[in-house]
Amino acid sequence: MESGITNLKALRKICYGLYVVSSVRNEKLNGQIANTVFQITSTPATIAVSINKQNLTHEFIKESKVFTVSVLAKEASMKFIGHFGFKSGRKIDKFSEVNYKLGVTNAPIVLEYSIAYLEAEVVSTVDVGTHTIFIGTIVDADILNEGEPMTYAYYHTVKKGKSPKTAPTYIAEKNQKEENKMKKYRCTVCGYVYDPEVGDPDSGVNPGTSFEQLPDNWVCPVCGVEKTEFEEE
Ligand code: FE
Repeated sequence: MESGITNLKALRKICYGLYVVSSVRNEKLNGQIANTVFQITSTPATIAVSINKQNLTHEFIKESKVFTVSVLAKEASMKFIGHFGFKSGRKIDKFSEVNYKLGVTNAPIVLEYSIAYLEAEVVSTVDVGTHTIFIGTIVDADILNEGEPMTYAYYHTVKKGKSPKTAPTYIAEKNQKEENKMKKYRCTVCGYVYDPEVGDPDSGVNPGTSFEQLPDNWVCPVCGVEKTEFEEE
C-alpha cells in the first residue's frame, strides 16, 4: 500500500450543481453562489445549504430564517457567476442589475440563467465551524424553463471557474507552470485564469487571443478587476 498521502482532489469527484442562494433582511436582498445544496428528505420536502459564516447571506438567513435557491443553467456566464460569487453584498447591491422576483418568503428568486427555484423556511441549523448548514422545508418551488442545470464539474472544467477561499469546497492549489507558447495569467483577486487557448467568449474575446492582445478595457470576467491585477501563472 502507498504511504498515506491524502489527495484532497478526490473531493472534486463528488457531484454538485451551481446555485444562487438568496435571502432577505429588512427588505434588503442578497444572494451568493453556492454549490452545496442538497435534498435531505421528501416528506416533508426538505433541503440543506452550507453557507460561510463570513458571508452577508449567512447573516440574512440567520435572521430571517428563509432562503431561496435558484438553480443555474449550464449557459450561465462567468460574469453572472462572478457577480454573485466573487463580490460582496456589503459593497454592492447584487440585485440592482439582475432580473428577479420576490417569492412567498419575500426573499429574491433569480430569473436570469435560472431554470428552477426552491424557497425554504429554516427548521434547523448545524454549526460546522467555518460554515453553518441551514436545513429548510420547502414552502414553494417551480421550474422556470427546461434548460440543463450547471454542474460544478462543468463549471470547473469547461468554464474554468474557480472557488473563492470562502467556499466549502475550496482546495488550495499550487501554481502549475506550463511550457505553453502563450502564457496564462491569473487574477490575483479571484483566482480566475485567463487561458489564451480558451479566450473569453462571454466578453467577445476569441480563442487564440494572447493576454497582451486583450484590450485595455478588458476586465476579469469573474470579479471585474482590470488587467493590471493579473500575474503570469
Ligand atoms: Fe478576478
